[in-house]
Amino acid sequence: MLPTPHRQATTHARRRRTAAVLLASAVSVCLVAASAPAVPLGVGDRLFPYLGNPGYDVASYDLSFTYPGNNSEPLRAVTTIDAWTTADLDRVNLDFAHGTVHSVEVDGEPAEFRTAGEDLVITPEDSVSDDNWMRIIVRHTSNPVPAKGREGGWVRTADGLAMANQADAAHLVFPCNDHPSDKAVFTIRVTAPDGHTAVANGLPAGVDRSGGSTTWTYRTQHPMATELAQVSIGRSTVLHRTGPHGLPVRDVVPTRYRKALEPWLAKTPAQMEWMESKVGRYPFETYGLLMADASTGFELETQTLSLFERELFTEPAYPAWYVESIMVHELAHQWFGDSVTPRTWSDLWLSEGHATWYEALYAEEQADKPMRDRMKAAYGASDRWRAAGGPPAAPKAPEPGRKTGIFRPNVYDGAALVLYALRQEIGRPAFERLQRAWVGRHQDDTATTEDFVRLAAEISGRDLDGFFQGWLYGEKTPPMPGHPDWKPEAPAKPAAPAVVAAAAGTARR
Ligand SMILES: [Zn+2]
Repeated sequence: MLPTPHRQATTHARRRRTAAVLLASAVSVCLVAASAPAVPLGVGDRLFPYLGNPGYDVASYDLSFTYPGNNSEPLRAVTTIDAWTTADLDRVNLDFAHGTVHSVEVDGEPAEFRTAGEDLVITPEDSVSDDNWMRIIVRHTSNPVPAKGREGGWVRTADGLAMANQADAAHLVFPCNDHPSDKAVFTIRVTAPDGHTAVANGLPAGVDRSGGSTTWTYRTQHPMATELAQVSIGRSTVLHRTGPHGLPVRDVVPTRYRKALEPWLAKTPAQMEWMESKVGRYPFETYGLLMADASTGFELETQTLSLFERELFTEPAYPAWYVESIMVHELAHQWFGDSVTPRTWSDLWLSEGHATWYEALYAEEQADKPMRDRMKAAYGASDRWRAAGGPPAAPKAPEPGRKTGIFRPNVYDGAALVLYALRQEIGRPAFERLQRAWVGRHQDDTATTEDFVRLAAEISGRDLDGFFQGWLYGEKTPPMPGHPDWKPEAPAKPAAPAVVAAAAGTARR
């Protein structure tokens, strides 16, 4: 995700904490006996303790949505989950918090269910044993109107819906194991009245038109985290072009902006070639931009179909090089974040730091905006960012009532600065080998900060424990290798307007 700069002062990001979170912070990760009350569970994420659930590993989701023709009424939905059990389960918890559940089946038998916190707690007729497949079918609604103080999930656009689930909002849309450590393949079906077009992650797997409505089916060929799911429903046009090696590229645009957006969309294939020249083959079966006619305040790297605010491209105040570098930021996430997914939310810097790195590198190579200048500015601010948000690999929890969530500068330019320091430390050739090895070794998987530290040591042939300890976990920013003259700036200069900052090539947040 990347906040759009002009909104920062007003509608920065959308994450708000509610009383439910305070409740959930007391969540236990142990399994409960059948006689115990139904309670919300989590997988023990340091920042979102209530996300995910123990005892099973989802292999596939089949999501089926019926859109009523307007974006203010709930969609009808059926969610089918195939999961492998890793414990004996008297109860099965799913994350789900913003719809009405009509019925639940486990392995073909009706099951009891109730809500506890943001969990749907299911009690199967017979308990489910360890080391087995289970199939859960939930018939429910999915409400596109946000609950008070709890945005995320469905995004209502001028002509329909899009999705923005990062970090903790997929379970506002569909029942799931809502933690990035449990990736799965997805089949997504959307039925909508004539005049609408639906697109989701992956490639089309069928279109069925009948009785005034159409059902579109999409399937991912690679596993995906729930936070990266995307469904677009709108008065849209799908534009097709070809990327590197004949890769199908498709963009989804509001039909009335098709002409205005085309010059931007035409840039994608060359940007993909540029990224491939840096880190290797694009990791998925398709790519494209979803241009949402909505004021989201951010862009989001939903897998194979990145979500962008249409305004970023039609607002003339943004310099072209800047808009292009943001396109590359979301594209780079397809490798860093989507294909190689941070296993916990504390590993978020692995995703945002790398996306910011390629955003800045692209600006340097294509628009003559030196990386060194940007990193020097980041160095100046880094101690402040660490004080506000924590060190890059140990970010502070989102504060109740603060909208910025965990998406703070410490994991964007603050983390790109770590990569710059690493390149200074081990040299450009080893750094470039590391980047390629990282996306190659962990493709379609999850990975941790420790995995990155270990691989960097292996590739460089150096013990980097001390280096990473300071750069990833230190309260203060260590001295920059090769730039002993770089100094932290004194705090609290008034912020320049974001657009001016963007035009100057400095930090955006
Ligand atoms: Zn990002």
